[in-house]
Amino acid sequence: MRPNAMDKQTLIRIAGDFCDNSPTNYLPDRALLSEGAAEGNNFARNNIYGNASDALRLGADSESDYVGMRFYKRPVLSVGAASNPGFFDIKKPEAVGAFHKLPSDWIPDAKRVLSLCLPFEDRILASTKNDPVEPSLEWLMARVDGQKHLLALGAFVRDAITQEGYAAICPQLEDEYAMRPAHFPLPDRNDIPPYASNWSERHVGVVTGLGTFGLSTNFISKAGCAGRLISVVTDMALCPDEKDYNSYLDYCNKCGACIRKCPAAAYLEGGKKDHRLCGEHIHKTCMKYEPRYGCGKCQSGIPCERRPLAKG
Ligand code: SF4
Ligand code: SF4
Repeated sequence: MRPNAMDKQTLIRIAGDFCDNSPTNYLPDRALLSEGAAEGNNFARNNIYGNASDALRLGADSESDYVGMRFYKRPVLSVGAASNPGFFDIKKPEAVGAFHKLPSDWIPDAKRVLSLCLPFEDRILASTKNDPVEPSLEWLMARVDGQKHLLALGAFVRDAITQEGYAAICPQLEDEYAMRPAHFPLPDRNDIPPYASNWSERHVGVVTGLGTFGLSTNFISKAGCAGRLISVVTDMALCPDEKDYNSYLDYCNKCGACIRKCPAAAYLEGGKKDHRLCGEHIHKTCMKYEPRYGCGKCQSGIPCERRPLAKG
């Protein structure tokens, strides 16, 4: 096996520099929006409107106070072995299901899976605390307009690896990636149940060492739960991380704050989430804030928003 020219620390540094410098990480002035906006943030394919909304409307109501607002901090990154049996566990019905892909479904000789978390900027997080029910405009912009940056980061890391001569794929950017963000059908992908995807970044993140679930099925990374996830599969054999947790809930102290904050009362006894209640609440935000939508009350204003907590 030939030595890697790139190590994890280099990847972390260049990915962080990309987040500092890429225009995708800042709310653009409406004049900068182009025809490419719809493709660029995958909005047409992976949005809760089921392709019905027009991504070019994003930014049409950009106000001067928000233009230039940064969405995400520098990312945290973990490296997991593609051969980890945890990837097979994700295919079990009690996890995601048989339709979930393995790393080798993306790259036959996959060796590593890299998980990245982009933590929301302080301004975004602070804004969500003003109202217990309504999402802040900052949150909606980071969640929807900022999708473009999430995908750009995935593409950046993928391309940095391929430039070293290795194979790399960012699943969320592939045509084979499928998710159903709501209960409506997905054309030709009825094998994916509602509120599921064939590459669950949260489950993948648990396997790669990025973090664990929280009680409300949120994901608590090493930078906390207020962030977005993306991953890259590669045949470059970076040194895998050692996990500092043993169970899928280890970063959660079970304080219940996330569950109490849910404006839709979507959590049943024991913390089980009623996805339809959550989806109905998100749908209301679609009606009110289209083309944006979101909630995030179970990801913000809670003790684990910026850091993992000890086992409870
Ligand atoms: S708020 Fe408390 S219960 Fe909810 S995920 Fe965070 S640590 Fe766990
Ligand atoms: S996103 Fe909002 S509605 Fe859905 S579970 Fe979290 S807090 Fe509840």
